[in-house]
Amino acid sequence: MTGPIPLVDLAAQHAAVADEVAAGWAAVLAKTAFVGGPQVTAFEGEYAAFAGVEHCIGLGNGTDALELALRALSIGTGDECIVPANTFIATAEAVARTGATPVLVDCDLDTALIDVDAAAAAVTTRTRAVLPVDLYGQVAPIEKLRAVLPTNVAIVEDAAQSQGATRNGQTAGSFGDIAATSFYPGKNLGAYGDAGAVTTSRADLAERVRLLGAHGSPRKYEHPVLGFNSRLDTLQAVVLSAKLRRLAGWNAARRVAADRYTALLSDVDGVTTPVVAAGNVPVWHLYVIRVADRDAVLGKLHAEGIGAGIHYPTPVHLTGAFADLGLGAGAFPASERLGTEILSLPLFPEITEAQQERVVSVLSEAVR
Ligand SMILES: *Cc1c(COP(=O)(O)O)cnc(C)c1O
Repeated sequence: MTGPIPLVDLAAQHAAVADEVAAGWAAVLAKTAFVGGPQVTAFEGEYAAFAGVEHCIGLGNGTDALELALRALSIGTGDECIVPANTFIATAEAVARTGATPVLVDCDLDTALIDVDAAAAAVTTRTRAVLPVDLYGQVAPIEKLRAVLPTNVAIVEDAAQSQGATRNGQTAGSFGDIAATSFYPGKNLGAYGDAGAVTTSRADLAERVRLLGAHGSPRKYEHPVLGFNSRLDTLQAVVLSAKLRRLAGWNAARRVAADRYTALLSDVDGVTTPVVAAGNVPVWHLYVIRVADRDAVLGKLHAEGIGAGIHYPTPVHLTGAFADLGLGAGAFPASERLGTEILSLPLFPEITEAQQERVVSVLSEAVR
């Protein structure tokens, strides 16, 4: 087969829900009620049940969800929060936006998940939370973190990439004290614009997040605390409910595709396939391999129309945004090494066997 293969193809997913979304949107338009309403409440209930928690609060995006989760824990200036150095920048950004200091730690080279021992070693008297990230769709070793962290240190799970993943039978978004997720269009459960949510089984934190996201207002015209405006749009809730009904099937299709890549790549020298930690059933938000001379390999894939990507080329401490942390090259060897070796292959539920075979054949040539 020939022709370009994108990193992510959202067209097939849209086709599956198009009629349902059109009908749901028509109902919203008929009422011209675009904020809140029964569609948002319904989705929040559905997503809480899906994640296995008591409460879900729909918000404007995943970064707001992380920030409001931290603020619900009263984290702010003078506090420290431990964050893995290899994550999407939003995890560290949310910490910095509260006024707290992100304390970066390295990751495990094999799984790319937070290094539990490094996190334990980074705890100080100012530490208020650790933010494990379920990177690429597998849950971080959160029960191991809990076992080594002081009980007054909260765990805020960044579940933006792990909707539907499980660890020892427990679903992503239900670990720790509170979790944040993102429904950015390319996520496993993607909206048609920005959206996010907090999930938690703690009623006190749920109530606080809801208050903070709605102008600090428990009732119209009452503003006991300074809040923000971060809402899940009604139109997005319609999309998310329609897609959530299909998410388990889409995640299963991603697993089949990931297993197929791993089998096809098993005898390709020079490619390290992803490592799944014991107890994890990932949802393969991304299928990330490691190769030497990554930039040359990526160039060859792009030249053949294969939309491979890098998630993420620059660890947080080497970005300009976090230069003021004063951590140079060499601070986090595993994260820095991953930054130079990782490569995300095209993966989406509807990817075909022929597309995957072509990716592997071009890749095999490229690493030769
Ligand atoms: C996407 C993502 C976020 C942020 O979500 P937005 O909705 O884009 O704000 C946070 N953390 C991780 C790991 C992500 O992948």
